Parts: sequence; structure tokens; C-alpha cells
Amino acid sequence: MEKKICFGCDKEVNILYHVSKKVGFQCEECSKNNIRRLKDLGKWYEIDLKALFEIDGEFVDEVLDLECIYYCQKCGYFDFKKFNKCPCCLAEDLYVRSWYLYSEKEYLEELLTSTYMYIGADYNGLSFSIAKAKYFINVATYTIDKVFLGQLEVKSQQGVDVHIVVGRVDDELRKYLKASEKLSEIVRYDPESHVKLVVIDGVLAFKGSANLTLDGWQRLKELREVTTIPEEVKELNNDYIPHSYELGKRLK
Ligand SMILES: [Zn+2]
Ligand SMILES: [Zn+2]
Repeated sequence: MEKKICFGCDKEVNILYHVSKKVGFQCEECSKNNIRRLKDLGKWYEIDLKALFEIDGEFVDEVLDLECIYYCQKCGYFDFKKFNKCPCCLAEDLYVRSWYLYSEKEYLEELLTSTYMYIGADYNGLSFSIAKAKYFINVATYTIDKVFLGQLEVKSQQGVDVHIVVGRVDDELRKYLKASEKLSEIVRYDPESHVKLVVIDGVLAFKGSANLTLDGWQRLKELREVTTIPEEVKELNNDYIPHSYELGKRLK
């Protein structure tokens, strides 16, 4: 096995873990120290959750403790701090859904490690994550095809909150929206939106240049990435989805 050098202690090791954007890659010992430090500073959301699950299970309990995600079911905004009125759409707490991360440990492990390590940012990784999503899926895309519309409609029927922003409406989309009451409820049209982003349960975001189509997520020459740092996932989500969804047009 090729040896790697830890940026924390300069030791040669077999495996490095990606701790956070600022800390970068480190050995197990240095990773644990840095993760504990971020946790003590109250900055658990800067930790790359993938590293946490790769290191070990007990450590996950220690770090995720009482961390919680708060989600506005009306517009798709979310935060790690409690809010009673949504800062984006001003909906009252009736619409705010929340869950503790530590109680979701096994599910998160499957979602974060499977997608990233074994599947990756391609069609299989994305559709696996959509299938696994438990609380919400927020989407911004220029175009969307029936493959993904079908997957998202199913999740929505299962009680997962789904918000979809599209930047373009074509005949295919119109046809499916006409046929499905559920889909027409959760899709909004914002011609200004040109982002490609899929956010899963506040802990995972797929982004890049690919539209939410089978072709886009399979062909070469598209940029496709996954991020598992909650703070980054939050910024991507809140910058690109809730406002567009709120201002977007409902299509019939
Ligand atoms: Zn080290
Ligand atoms: Zn809202």
C-alpha cells in the first residue's frame, strides 16, 4: 500500500481522512483531535461527516450527540440552529420539522459512506441517495427528465418533503405535471435559476454541471461532485433553493 503523509503530524500512514475544509487530510489520531476541537467549539457542522463515519462508530456518538437539523417544509430552507419563523418564507413553526442526528446514526452511515466511497457522484450514487432519503430532498436543475421525476414523485408519496426548482419547462415536464397532482404541487419554475444541485436530508449535496436527467448523470464531460460537510450543504441549499421555490411559478 502506498504510504501517505499526515499534514498534522508528518507521520507516514496508510489512510488519511478528510476532516474539514480548513484542516484538510489527516491521520486517524490527528483527525480525532481536530474533530473533537471543532465539536468543543460548537462547530460540528464544519466536520466532513464522511470522515467521522469512516473513523469509527463510537466516535460518531461522541460528536453527533444532540445535534439537530431544523427544516422549513414550506420552502425547503434549513439550519442547525432552531428557528420558529422561517427566515426565508416567514412560515410559522407549524411548518418546521426537526430531527436529531444521533438517532439517525445507522441511516446516516449508510447514506454517507455508501454514496461517497463505494458508488460516487454518478447516476447510481445519486439515485441510491434519493432512494435512501428520509426527511427531505431539495432540487435545483435547469431541466429534469421522467426518470428523476418518477423517483422524486415516489419519495414525495412516501412522506419525504420534496422541493424542485426548474429553470426551463419543456413538453415532457408539462406532460408529467399534468398527469400528477403530487408533482405539480412540488415543482416550481424560476427562469433565473441555472444551478444544478440535489440536497439530501441536510447532510449530502450533489452538485456540478449535470441536469437532473439520466443522460446528464451518466455521460462524460459533465462535472459531478458530492459534498458531505453540513455547513457547505446548508449554504448551497439556502443560497439556491428556498427563495427560487418561494418566488417560482407553480405549473399546471
Ligand atoms: Zn497525524
Ligand atoms: Zn420557509
